[in-house]
Amino acid sequence: MYETVIGLEVHFELATKTKLFCGCENRFAASPNTLCCPTCLGLPGSLPVLNKRAVEYALMAGLALNCGISKRIVFDRKNYFYPDMPNGYQVSQFYCPLCLNGKLTFFHNGKTKTVGIREIHLEDDAGKLIHGDGVTKIDYNRAGVPLIEVVTDPDMNSAEETVAFLEALRLTMLYLGVSDCKMQEGSMRVDVNLSVHKIGEPLGTRTETKNLNSFKAVAHAINCEEKRQREIIENGGAVDQETRRFDDLKGVSYVMRSKEQAEDYRFFPDSNLPAVSVEKSLIDEIKLSLPELPETKKRLYISDFGLSDTDAEILVSDKCVAEFFEKTAAFCGNRREAANRIIRDVMGEINLRQISLSESCLTPEKLGRIIALCENGEVSRKISREIMSVAFGENIDIDRYVDENGLSQITDPDIIKSAVEKVILDNPKAVADFKNGKKQVFGNLVGLTMKELCGRGEPKIINKIVEEMLKMS
Ligand code: ADP
Ligand code: ZN
Ligand code: MG
Repeated sequence: MYETVIGLEVHFELATKTKLFCGCENRFAASPNTLCCPTCLGLPGSLPVLNKRAVEYALMAGLALNCGISKRIVFDRKNYFYPDMPNGYQVSQFYCPLCLNGKLTFFHNGKTKTVGIREIHLEDDAGKLIHGDGVTKIDYNRAGVPLIEVVTDPDMNSAEETVAFLEALRLTMLYLGVSDCKMQEGSMRVDVNLSVHKIGEPLGTRTETKNLNSFKAVAHAINCEEKRQREIIENGGAVDQETRRFDDLKGVSYVMRSKEQAEDYRFFPDSNLPAVSVEKSLIDEIKLSLPELPETKKRLYISDFGLSDTDAEILVSDKCVAEFFEKTAAFCGNRREAANRIIRDVMGEINLRQISLSESCLTPEKLGRIIALCENGEVSRKISREIMSVAFGENIDIDRYVDENGLSQITDPDIIKSAVEKVILDNPKAVADFKNGKKQVFGNLVGLTMKELCGRGEPKIINKIVEEMLKMS
């Protein structure tokens, strides 16, 4: 029995205002080479100054992923020559990564899975090569942008499990606000290390696959590489340790380079960057400021709020939606109903109108009020959904809207009684049919009464009064 083993290296560009070692703006899609200075261009004589915010973001990520934190921040140079790297080296943390030995536990397919986090280190990004028309141009706007690299243990065994992990990791980073995690813009980048071995035997030789710019591509690349390696092994061959580039359209990968060894990079401490100690008080402060994380929320929604796995997953998949849900539930006092309305109705509006919850006019107070009005029987369920739809698009006061449009449900027995009387008088044949045993006529009479009340009668009361008055007539 063969088993596939997968470990990941995931890069996140940090959402800092400025770059890691200079004051240049950290922004995507600016016009080329407009966000550069002597430091991030590697000009002689320039000196780096460490961005404190980047360190804080890296610490947030490390603490959220249960890592131990190094006492000192030390940077090393990873030396190699490539035109997108003006210094001739990348500044990284080879000997002493900032965060070590963490884990991420996530809930997936009804089960809990834990993936070890080997380390998280800080480093700077390279510029971008733009190929075309027989020339290659270089944009250094990205050079020097802060990155964290999250390195996992080889703890995953399938494409599905890997994608579930990546979703949990991405959501964690989004909740922390440390990165905008846009794979199509390169602010989240995934490299897949994969090997195949016989269960019970040591791990096989791994390959590393790069150039994966969506979760779909990650899954596709894993499935292809798993198949490729199994075939090699089954045919008695040996897998070469190498770095491969995946072509998602063709579903094939190519060798980029045979895997380099660490010594190829001649790592050594960066003498321009003195070690900085990480104060315990800073760690404590960051720990306290961490938001509630998606996996914690999900567990709470399932076990304490009684929501289904699927509903909990949908609600936490966007931090704004989760917060909206919790506030709405607090306002109306009914968590299940708040979850239902948000998942079924509010999400429907979001999809229909293609605007986000924060851009809509709906607030948790308003939705909570709408739910309460429905639960108290003051408006019908159908009407309450219509009000929500209006409140999504326009800034209305819910109670005033109900008053002004005469939407409140009629519960007054006297009003309902006179409507029923009118229906009975107007429909002698139906009444006679009912008396002669045609019981299905009952529903028609209820419907006519509801029509008489312009759809606003309380259904249970109408039913009761029609029944009583048929008996009496
Ligand atoms: P290196 O130091 O050569 O970069 P690491 O040990 O740091 O290698 O591992 C890099 C990544 O490769 C990690 O994500 C790790 O989980 C993964 N990995 C290591 N060995 C294997 C293996 N045999 N099969 C699959 N993934 C592996
Ligand atoms: Zn700069
Ligand atoms: Mg490595």
